[in-house]
Amino acid sequence: MKKQARLYFDNAATTPLDSRVLQAMKPYFLSDFGNPGSLHREGQRAVAAIDNCRERIANILGVQFRDIVFTSGATEANNLAIQGVVSFWWEKNPNRLPKIIISSIEHESVSEVARNLERRGLAKVCVVGVNSNGTLKMKDLEAAMDQDVAIVSIMYANNEIGAVQDVPQISAFIKKYREAKNSSWPIFHTDAAQALQYLRCDSEYLGYDLATFSAHKIYGPKGVGVLAVRNKNILPIIFGGGQEGGLRSGTENVPLIVGFLKAMEINEALKAKESARMLRIRGRFIRGALGSIRGVGLNGGGKEDGTRGRTLPNIVNVFFKGIPADKMMAALDLSGVAVSLGSACRARSLEASYVVKALGYGIDRAKQSIRFSFGRGTSEKDIDKALGLIRKIIR
Ligand code: PMP
Repeated sequence: MKKQARLYFDNAATTPLDSRVLQAMKPYFLSDFGNPGSLHREGQRAVAAIDNCRERIANILGVQFRDIVFTSGATEANNLAIQGVVSFWWEKNPNRLPKIIISSIEHESVSEVARNLERRGLAKVCVVGVNSNGTLKMKDLEAAMDQDVAIVSIMYANNEIGAVQDVPQISAFIKKYREAKNSSWPIFHTDAAQALQYLRCDSEYLGYDLATFSAHKIYGPKGVGVLAVRNKNILPIIFGGGQEGGLRSGTENVPLIVGFLKAMEINEALKAKESARMLRIRGRFIRGALGSIRGVGLNGGGKEDGTRGRTLPNIVNVFFKGIPADKMMAALDLSGVAVSLGSACRARSLEASYVVKALGYGIDRAKQSIRFSFGRGTSEKDIDKALGLIRKIIR
């Protein structure tokens, strides 16, 4: 019997490596293996490679060369942003407990860092809710602001429902607040890990102080990310040899950094076209699912046309009324379709999605919700095939 190709609809968890990225990385695993900290020729070749990546990534993001800090991924970049700013706060204000403002739908690599600081008595966390379409309640953010806020961390695009925040509006609000109070606080951070593939991420447009990116969400390697650091009110959380401008010690992972640049350059070239194509793919899925499958509903914003600007074009989160999500996911997996219940980091716990709950829906709906995330490998035919398989499962 012919082996059926699987339908991989979990691109928000991770994307496959682009073979051109692998080719670009190869020499840095094999021949150009030097330590960028070494002064000999091998070391100089390595440092030239990462400086080239730093320069070109800085260009793409519209930041300065020295603003790029390479990390082991978005999780570490988020940890550095929040813990690093809180550390800096304590150096400047040894007697004042700082506040951290986050949204109710942040990835765990933001929310758990903030909560951990709170448990240790190092910060107070203030969580701002979202509307039923996943957008931040701006009025609640405004109400939460005071002069003890060290950092506001609001993600650009959500990994479970695809909701896109109006980051330019949020950053402008924070700048205005700082001006009005004549203060350098708070620092504004955005986790743009899911946004990089489809949305504008340059600093001029977004206006962030700090921004997080990850390579494996854009067909690059796992284990490398960037924190763009435009505001230097931040201290390191990993100490050692002082690499990355002192903000992230440890020998730089040259091949992965080279891979990140290659993935970013390919991504920038494809961004507009792929976004438009994804919008059609997503629309086809939503129309097909809502129109022909009983008891299906959409979680979060984004009408069937994808309502660009408010929702990522590749993520759809739906619930199947009366069907537990873990059963649906397993049935889909058996049928050859890979999906997830939400964040891959939490996937094994089978907990109900806190993101879907944060939209104001009950726990039952959260427990029946599934994320489909499409990618470069997804065709309209794949969507029709998946819809057919879902109909079969539900019948
Ligand atoms: N933030 C968001 C929004 C994400 O989707 C992810 C990946 N699930 C992360 C952070 C963590 O990224 P990484 O795997 O690079 O640590």
